Amino acid sequence: MSLSQVASSIPASPTIALNEEARLLREKGEPVIHLGIGEPKNKTPITAILSSAAKLASGDVKYVPTDGTPSLKKAIVRYSEENYDRVVAPQNIIVSDGAKQSLFNILFTLCNPQDEVIVIAPYWVSYPEMIKMIGAIPVIVTPEDGSFVPGFNEIERVVGSYTKAIIVNSPNNPSGLIYPEDLISKIVDLCERKGIYMICDDIYHKLVFDGKVAVPACKYTQKDVENSKVILVNGVAKLYGMTGFRVGWVIAPKKLVEIMTNVQSQTTTCVSPVMQAAAEGALTGMQSIVESLRLSIQNNRDVLMQELQSFTDVQCVKPQGTFYALPDFNAYCRNSVAKNSVELCQFLLKKALVVTVPGKEFGMEGHLRLSYAGTVKELIEGIERMKWALDPNAPSEIYIGDRKLVRDWL
Ligand code: PMP
Repeated sequence: MSLSQVASSIPASPTIALNEEARLLREKGEPVIHLGIGEPKNKTPITAILSSAAKLASGDVKYVPTDGTPSLKKAIVRYSEENYDRVVAPQNIIVSDGAKQSLFNILFTLCNPQDEVIVIAPYWVSYPEMIKMIGAIPVIVTPEDGSFVPGFNEIERVVGSYTKAIIVNSPNNPSGLIYPEDLISKIVDLCERKGIYMICDDIYHKLVFDGKVAVPACKYTQKDVENSKVILVNGVAKLYGMTGFRVGWVIAPKKLVEIMTNVQSQTTTCVSPVMQAAAEGALTGMQSIVESLRLSIQNNRDVLMQELQSFTDVQCVKPQGTFYALPDFNAYCRNSVAKNSVELCQFLLKKALVVTVPGKEFGMEGHLRLSYAGTVKELIEGIERMKWALDPNAPSEIYIGDRKLVRDWL
């Protein structure tokens, strides 16, 4: 079969593949604990349900403008004013099928083949693949000191004549860290000096802990949206736990939005008006929902940090936001059980029925990404199972569901 080389070279999203594997195991009745999944367990906000239900009930569900319904755009204008202190016009906004499509649209619109896009490791799995899909080149900056935050000079050093953009995701999936303000302000300055776009993936911006704030990059530019290099990506998936609604948006200069709109008009036409109504309901409804989600996730983070302490050989940088942590499992990646993070994840799924995501997928081999978006009970039991599977000092017997398992591999 003769297929596109580019398309054939793109692997399935590992997180989505793992979700599917876990779903199939659960369907078979296996008591799988999912520490891989990137979505909170909360119910959809009632305001989102009501406004999408009203749209459905109207029976008027047709094509709508490609760049988004005027009323959702209005809600996004308000959201930007309230959360970013940024005045944006409806023409600066394009609504897409999730922040994922937003990011793809931006990259497709900005880059020519061979252009370079800087990605900071650890990074969200889809950035390098999307960049490759459009024929551009991901340039990965991996912090030299082994941390999850690069020095500014490490970024500046890779900027060249082909550099088109840099993607900045803070709070960061998978590390959970917020980049320091100083780094953000220097990247903004660099981008404006060199004419590079700064793509800010802000999808977790309100899920921050311990009173910390993820200061938005636009605070550091003197320029208005029209003239700035800062492009903002956001959506309802994470903050409102509305992953299945598939609504994200971009705020960018009008010209860019215009081209992205043309691109989208040739691919997906528009986001379903039912889903846009849901997003509008979430944005204009009670925001205490986000705060209670944030608080419960912060509590989960604390539980995870506490539970991880029972491993003597695992270090974990304390997350400051998101619902992910990226503990260092190198000590368990160099033995008969596993040679790397991919094998370690497979082992944990097979033996302990715990889903984790290999650090390799995020550019951090030897680490595992753990999600604490689920329940405290799952977190505690998940870590206990991992410890049983990996640590010779842990009791050799464990109950998983009603099955008693005995460890015989250490
Ligand atoms: N950016 C990051 C950093 C993410 O983690 C995700 C989802 N996992 C997305 C973008 C995509 O969000 P959406 O579900 O709105 O497409």
